[in-house]
Amino acid sequence: MSQLAYRRVLLKLSGEALMGDEDYGIDPKVLHRLAAEVVEAQEAGAQVALVIGGGNIFRGAGLAAGGMDRVTGDHMGMLATVINALAMQDALEKLGAKARVMSAIKINDVCEDYIRRRAIRHLEKGRITIFAAGVGSPFFTTDSGAALRAIEIGADLLLKATKVDGVYDKDPKKHADAVRFDSLGYDEIISRNLQVMDTAAFALSRDARLPMRIFDMDQPGVILRILKGENIGTLVQSGAAQ
Ligand code: UDP
Repeated sequence: MSQLAYRRVLLKLSGEALMGDEDYGIDPKVLHRLAAEVVEAQEAGAQVALVIGGGNIFRGAGLAAGGMDRVTGDHMGMLATVINALAMQDALEKLGAKARVMSAIKINDVCEDYIRRRAIRHLEKGRITIFAAGVGSPFFTTDSGAALRAIEIGADLLLKATKVDGVYDKDPKKHADAVRFDSLGYDEIISRNLQVMDTAAFALSRDARLPMRIFDMDQPGVILRILKGENIGTLVQSGAAQ
């Protein structure tokens, strides 16, 4: 049916990716553009799952820094990811796609509970499946949720969208001589403490031998180009030579 290099993928978007130039919340134009990228990939024949963070609304660590109980803050952060997931579901449906939100915390008046077998069934039926509320526990992030769900559903690739065009040996915004990696092993990314994702997410992906591509989302058609096998951004994999 399609000439794609990957059959099933999971795309991780940060909550901040939905903000555009706003300081908070969701910019509808940005949401629409991201949804269109996802639909383009799905229509090309890929099974696409999504995880969206909540940092555009609340993060537990930030709330705790302001004096709130950390676990309560994390619960609020997880609920923020449900809000973003519902917004994305709506944007996808407006584009004519089929979409389902599945949450790791029970909130089943507004979306489905996460059930692995049902999630896989949705994907097989061409429904873009959005996993909300991370792993469902405080002290985790949606990066870990993305790695966990990608492994559980047997994704061929985890796509980590960022604002930078890959992984550098140091911050390219601060150092003009920063060098970008084409590919990198998980052990190296962990030992160099390159904080593109949290260490738990890298460790989970390494142990499950799940490859990950880290790339700049701000390029039209980028998801589909990656799915067609283009070498965009940085590929991270278990035991990879540089
Ligand atoms: N969160 C959590 N457990 C999870 C996933 C998320 O407690 O499994 C909370 C945590 O407070 C986190 C917030 O939800 O800061 C939003 O998620 P994240 O920071 O990963 O969002 P992103 O940075 O990707 O926008």
